[in-house]
Amino acid sequence: SPSRSSVIIVGAGISGIAAAKVLAENGVEDLVILEASDRVGGRICKESFGGVTVELGAGWIAGVGGQQPNPIWELAAQFELRTCFSDYSNARYNIYDRSGNIIPSEIAADSYKKAVDSAIQKLRNQEEEEEEAYGDDHCNNNIKNSETKLPSTPETPIELAIDFILHDFEMAEVEPISTYVDFGEREFLVADERGYDYLLYKMAEEFLFTSEGRILDNRLKLNKVVRELQYSKSGVTVKTEDGFVYEANYVILSVSIGVLQSDLLAFNPTLPRWKLDAIEKCDVMVYTKIFLKFPYKFWPSGPDKEFFIYAHERRGYYTFWQHMENAYPGSNMLVVTLTNEESKRVEAQADEETLREAMAVLRDMFGPNIPNAIDILVPRWWNNRFQRGSYSNYPIISNHKLFHNIKAPVGRIFFTGEHTSERFNGYVHGGYLAGIDTSKALLEEMRKEKESQTLLLEPL
Ligand code: FAD
Repeated sequence: SPSRSSVIIVGAGISGIAAAKVLAENGVEDLVILEASDRVGGRICKESFGGVTVELGAGWIAGVGGQQPNPIWELAAQFELRTCFSDYSNARYNIYDRSGNIIPSEIAADSYKKAVDSAIQKLRNQEEEEEEAYGDDHCNNNIKNSETKLPSTPETPIELAIDFILHDFEMAEVEPISTYVDFGEREFLVADERGYDYLLYKMAEEFLFTSEGRILDNRLKLNKVVRELQYSKSGVTVKTEDGFVYEANYVILSVSIGVLQSDLLAFNPTLPRWKLDAIEKCDVMVYTKIFLKFPYKFWPSGPDKEFFIYAHERRGYYTFWQHMENAYPGSNMLVVTLTNEESKRVEAQADEETLREAMAVLRDMFGPNIPNAIDILVPRWWNNRFQRGSYSNYPIISNHKLFHNIKAPVGRIFFTGEHTSERFNGYVHGGYLAGIDTSKALLEEMRKEKESQTLLLEPL
């Protein structure tokens, strides 16, 4: 029969590793980490491309320079991760139309203001509808009395491009986002040859057996795809795809919201209705960074030119561009970001087709004589069955109950991951803080269980 450990942690991303570390530091040594892929890091994932290390998943440390220290920024400082300041608010001044003209800054600023106003109006209308439907009083008072106006709809290529930037990147302009409110408005791009996941390795080093840059501890089990969780009042039995069975008193489940929505995991008994409903309600955002390597640089460089925008009549069509010269000078590399439907579309097609599309867009912006890219890298987060998307995207007006239910344990199964962080979902620090939070809640539960057992054992 399988040996029984105190806790099994499913998933070795930032939240799983943070959770395991807190448990180990609090005396829970007999833990097991089951990770489906062949590496730690999850959505923190580097790849060597065009002579440098690129980050296919999380790239920025978002929220720096504010009142409170961002814990990931602190880890980065402690382990001397190389980062570079990055400011994508400049992007709105570098908008190209299809004939390669840069949109004059007054027009861009005007469209930007219009888009922000319209987004705020939309939000207010939604809040009012919500209030009417539920009679809630969670709405902001000064918003309540405003009249319902129809928000304007983006129509021109510039408006569409700005709408895309605003909604898919800069929502902070429309509503306060805890990351920027708490930790500050600055963002730093990780540009370290060792990768963003170096932080995970350094964290692991403190509680797992490591040697020469590798985690060799047999409590970390890679290539273990969990397929079934059978739970009862006395414990949890975990079955993996390769036919192994693991037993534990508790499980911490750190798989993404996309995986929870898929049928990769079977729960026995099935999860309660309230849990399934909450999982269903949370949206998954797909975010794809496509890397292109060129024989030489043909785009304007400099920090204020780091980001540029392509205005096309199709929303989100190769809209958001970044050059890598600040991060890796001389790398001759561009990154274009697609989201949601466009991400799914390029994931489904051959990379040569994506390369052709991207080159046509670049020739619109920079003329017919630019060189072809010599290499392309297209991550596929949507089709990765251990991810099923990039990060959680809660409805803007989501109530506290939704987060509560996503996070709440079901029997001996505890939930963690970026999607369980009410304040910081969608971010690396969200995953990290969620891992710490969940393991603290579990430690408390374990303490209570122990206490009730000793009470039972004590003679009257
Ligand atoms: P994960 O990292 O997904 O960890 C979960 C682990 O569970 C994975 O390793 C997975 O393989 C494993 N798993 C899944 N199913 C099973 C199974 N059945 N059995 C065993 N193991 C399983 N955040 C930022 O702060 N800044 C950014 O710039 C940023 N950009 C991003 C860009 C992209 C393209 C993506 C994808 C994400 C980005 N994020 C960013 C978000 C950030 O990466 C995540 O919020 C964070 O890494 C999530 O950590 P996690 O531990 O919750 O989940």
